[in-house]
This record gives sequence, C-alpha cells and structure tokens, in this order.
Amino acid sequence: MAFGGLKRLALRSKKILPDGVFMKCEGCGAMIVMKETEERGGVCKECNHHFRINARRRIELTLDPESFQEFFSDLRSSDPLKFSGKKPYADRLKDSQARSGLPEAAVTGIGRIDGRELAFGVTDFFFMGGSMGSVVGEKLTRLAELALERRLALVLVCGSGGGARMDEGMYSLMQMAKTSAAIARMRDAGLPYIVVLTNSSYGGTMASWASLGDVILAEPRAMLGFTGPRVIKETLKVELPPGFQEAEFMLRHGLIDMIVPRSKLRETLGRLLGYLAPAPAAK
Ligand SMILES: [Zn+2]
Repeated sequence: MAFGGLKRLALRSKKILPDGVFMKCEGCGAMIVMKETEERGGVCKECNHHFRINARRRIELTLDPESFQEFFSDLRSSDPLKFSGKKPYADRLKDSQARSGLPEAAVTGIGRIDGRELAFGVTDFFFMGGSMGSVVGEKLTRLAELALERRLALVLVCGSGGGARMDEGMYSLMQMAKTSAAIARMRDAGLPYIVVLTNSSYGGTMASWASLGDVILAEPRAMLGFTGPRVIKETLKVELPPGFQEAEFMLRHGLIDMIVPRSKLRETLGRLLGYLAPAPAAK
C-alpha cells in the first residue's frame, strides 16, 4: 500500500531494478528514484509522467487529511453466472482482493476538501482494471443517493480501463443504466457532479457515469475513450491521428473540460466546489 500501486505496476512491467530503489519511467525511460516518485504522488520529476496510483493513495492526495469516512465497504461481488474464462471469476476476484488489499474495485465515502464536505468515490485500476461489476455500480449508485440525501456535491475519480466487467455479463452492463440514472437524479436536484478521468478510462464506465460530469477533468496524457486505438485501427483500417484518445486530444475536441496535473487536483476541485456547491464550509 505504501507505494500506492507504483511498485506493483513497475514490477509487472519489469522496470524496477532488483534493489527496489530505482525504476525506469515508462514515460521518458529515465531511471528515477521510487521513493521520491511516490512522494511526488506518482509523478515523474523528469517528464511529468503520471503513473497509476491506487484508490487509497488517491484519497490521501485529494481529500483533507483524515477526513475520509468510507461507506458501503461491506459489499462483495458474487458470481451470478458461475463464469470462467482463462480463470474462474471467483478465483480472479480472490486474487484481485489479495493483490489490491481492497474488497472491490471502487472505494466510496464522504470526505472534505478545504473543509467542504463532499461525496467521493474512486475506481482502482489495480483491481481487475477498475472494471465495473454489480458491486462497483451499486457502490457508486448508493454514493450518489447519499449525496442526494445529504445535499452534497459528488466527485468520482475514474481509473476504469477495464470498462464493464464481462465476467458478470448483463449484470455488469445494467450498472451503466443504474449509475447514469442516479447521476440524472443528482442533476434534477441541482447538485454538482465532477468527474476526474485518469489513465486509463474506457468502455462501459466511459459510456455511463464517467462521461456525465457537469465538469470533466482529466490527468495529463491519460488515455480516454470507449474502444481502444488498436481495435479502432484494426476494425476501420485507418491511420489514427497523433495523440489519438490522449487527454490533450480529447480536450481539443471538446470531450473534456480541463486537464489538471495531479499536484493541482485538490486545489482545482476545491475551487470548482466553491463555485458549484456554495454551501458554507463546515466549521
Ligand atoms: Zn519520466
């Protein structure tokens, strides 16, 4: 946990040296000091590459210290289809729980930014690619309902490169409608909803809650889209423009509102919440 997912990612890509002190940056190829990079929130000091970080680290970096109170942490996925791909779904769940230290791919609760209370949720790429099964969909929906009940703004951070979780088939796809309906109820109630897209955000999550923000932020060079560039290229037999589906490309084409470096995320969210959720900060 101490490494916020950085070490695990580096190990997987074999870019960490045996002593565990240095790792190779996947952005610029420079050898960088792991501990220092971790302290910088998982951002390379040479090239500003934003490594993936896990949900707990995201909460630490974004919310006021010790302000996060987790909700719905008791929900666990079942295996309604008794699905088995290369590996049975039940086993994949157990492996992901052991690797990530999380019961599921979403962490949801109430926290504060600059003293202002908000509903806050994160999907964690390190748990089955952050994919949305029934539990992720249910947690995000309940969080939106909690925001409605308490008249709070909702901020969701998407690290769902896995999109909808195919191991749950239609149950997974149903979460797209369920989460979107919950967001629509927030809109009807005039409560702000901000999304932060991180590398990578794809598939069924991008086709539902992750693209419905009143304000949509993204981290620099995050890959965002519905279907990935390789599949699009092979299916359509076309050359894709440079930077296709990178956050900067999406901003130029009007699909997102702002690119915010991780070091400025907390401050930016604080400012946006100040504009959009003008309730007085708690004392
Ligand atoms: Zn770098």
